[in-house]
Amino acid sequence: MENTERILNNKRVALHTLGCRLNSSETGSIAQGFKDRGYDIVEFGEQADVVFINTCTVTDAADSTCRNLIRKAHGSSPEGKIVVAGCYAQMEPERIAGMQGVDLVLGNSEKYKVFEYLDEEKENAIHIDKSWQFYGAATTTADSHTRAFLKIQDGCNYVCSFCIIPFARGRSRAISVQDAVIEAKKLVSQGFKEIVLTGVNIGEYEQASGEKLHDLVAQVLAVDGLERFRLSSVEPNTITDELIEVLKSSPKVLDHFHIPLQSGDDGILKDMRRKYTTSDYKRIIGKLVAAFPNAGFGADIIAGFPGETKEQFENTFNLLKELPITHFHVFPYSKRKNTTAAKMENLIHSGVKKDRVKTLMMFGDAKLNLFSEDQIGKRTKVLFERRNKAGNFEGYSSNFVRVSVVTDLELANQEREVLITGMDNGRLVGELLQ
Ligand code: SF4
Repeated sequence: MENTERILNNKRVALHTLGCRLNSSETGSIAQGFKDRGYDIVEFGEQADVVFINTCTVTDAADSTCRNLIRKAHGSSPEGKIVVAGCYAQMEPERIAGMQGVDLVLGNSEKYKVFEYLDEEKENAIHIDKSWQFYGAATTTADSHTRAFLKIQDGCNYVCSFCIIPFARGRSRAISVQDAVIEAKKLVSQGFKEIVLTGVNIGEYEQASGEKLHDLVAQVLAVDGLERFRLSSVEPNTITDELIEVLKSSPKVLDHFHIPLQSGDDGILKDMRRKYTTSDYKRIIGKLVAAFPNAGFGADIIAGFPGETKEQFENTFNLLKELPITHFHVFPYSKRKNTTAAKMENLIHSGVKKDRVKTLMMFGDAKLNLFSEDQIGKRTKVLFERRNKAGNFEGYSSNFVRVSVVTDLELANQEREVLITGMDNGRLVGELLQ
């Protein structure tokens, strides 16, 4: 009876995340905070007492999606408290606070204090703190019970001309190696098999903490019980030989790397104020391929940066053709207020941008397909997550391709060796070997 009452009286919270993996991982830790306080987590769009939206402001489209989600949240939970947090909240708090139904607007640091603020009676309260402390290291993922994201760094000191993130997340800061190991041990003790180190620019770890990123990686890899390890996005100019050596030395390291490219043209890279040339990028990929011959590579690419000529776009296309990049993350250039690129002329017509995005996305799909086909006949370790609609168990291979197997076994959160036997509807299928 007591238990039933507790369930009936539990408050409901719906959470939604936009944008990057870092945002997802941060929502994961905030969701855990709600659970610890007795809330039930419900799907976004269901009626809830609290709706928490962790926003992104990387493009105009992201801003407009945030506003649509706020309207949707108010529609499904007219009596609920709507909390809008994160990067877009940090950049346009008044505009968001003026939207119907919004109760709380929390910047990137303040979002961790959501529980304190929820008790406030004041409507449309804005809390934006620019002291940029480090919050939220102990992050778990919002979408899986197998893979945990461990945030080791936040903010960015780079000044890429197109990017608003340093304004939204502040200067670079990081946790110590010692704290990272403590958090990694906690995640493993909670049952997570895979840890992905995240941050806005984890290559800046040393500048932010005074300690070496490769030392942190080595110590996290040494945590007992950890089976799989990956770095999230790493800027190419920050990948050192020492880091590659440490990664290569452990069988726990997965052979998938995400190395932002943004453009395959040196002139555009310079205008973007990136810290590498196309030759540097090729050299880094070459070193990683030498260390991890079966690796898959992800890259962010911006199409239609101001002044990007047809030839410069072709340079990007040709570089992507030449390199073993398998997972394309393509974005149309989006003008962001206060950035250097916002003052540039020669804007690319939106139709041309769309065509370039489409060309790259189609090319990316074709390359991923070829890479997947190339896995047929090979053995790989798959960390299984859940059954798919067809009833087969699915998970990710070590080089980050989805694989499914036909089995009666319950494989959630288990890593098994699989022989890849073929493809079905563009997805890899395999047989369990153990
Ligand atoms: S490295 Fe450049 S693109 Fe990445 S967050 Fe920093 S400024 Fe933005």
